[in-house]
Amino acid sequence: MSDVKPRDEHAGGCACGAVRYKMAGPPMFVHCCHCRDCQRQTGSAFVINALIETDRIELLFGRPEPFAMPTDSGRPHDVYRCTTCGTAVWSDYGKRPGLRFVRVGTLDDPSEIPPDVHIYTRSKLPWVTLPAGTAAFPAYYDMKTLWPAESLQRRHAVSKK
Ligand SMILES: [Zn+2]
Ligand SMILES: [Zn+2]
Repeated sequence: MSDVKPRDEHAGGCACGAVRYKMAGPPMFVHCCHCRDCQRQTGSAFVINALIETDRIELLFGRPEPFAMPTDSGRPHDVYRCTTCGTAVWSDYGKRPGLRFVRVGTLDDPSEIPPDVHIYTRSKLPWVTLPAGTAAFPAYYDMKTLWPAESLQRRHAVSKK
């Protein structure tokens, strides 16, 4: 018998451990966003967002609370944070209760979920070199041409709720 604990796939949490979650299965699509909002809000070069149905996020511990963020576009953006340490674990963009953007950096192993697309590269920091072979766009992009059919179906099902 092995004493190695099986690692939970796509599990993550905040810095203090008060919030722990697990994504039930793979995300629909993964954005690496280089927009100014994401840079400002994270204090970094970009953010990695895994798009997934809210009901596929299993809260194992704690409950992050929404914080309304101002955006350059004026569209609503609620960032869900641990109320103890303030770590942002996911976002609701545009008041869509069925859809969450999970911050991949909060996963126990962020390398499990590489970006499918780089967006808003017009404000990408000049020293960030993007990998050849991953789609990249100066601003947003057309989901219908880029997403796998199964992911589009899942996204459509969220819209109907
Ligand atoms: Zn915390
Ligand atoms: Zn962004």
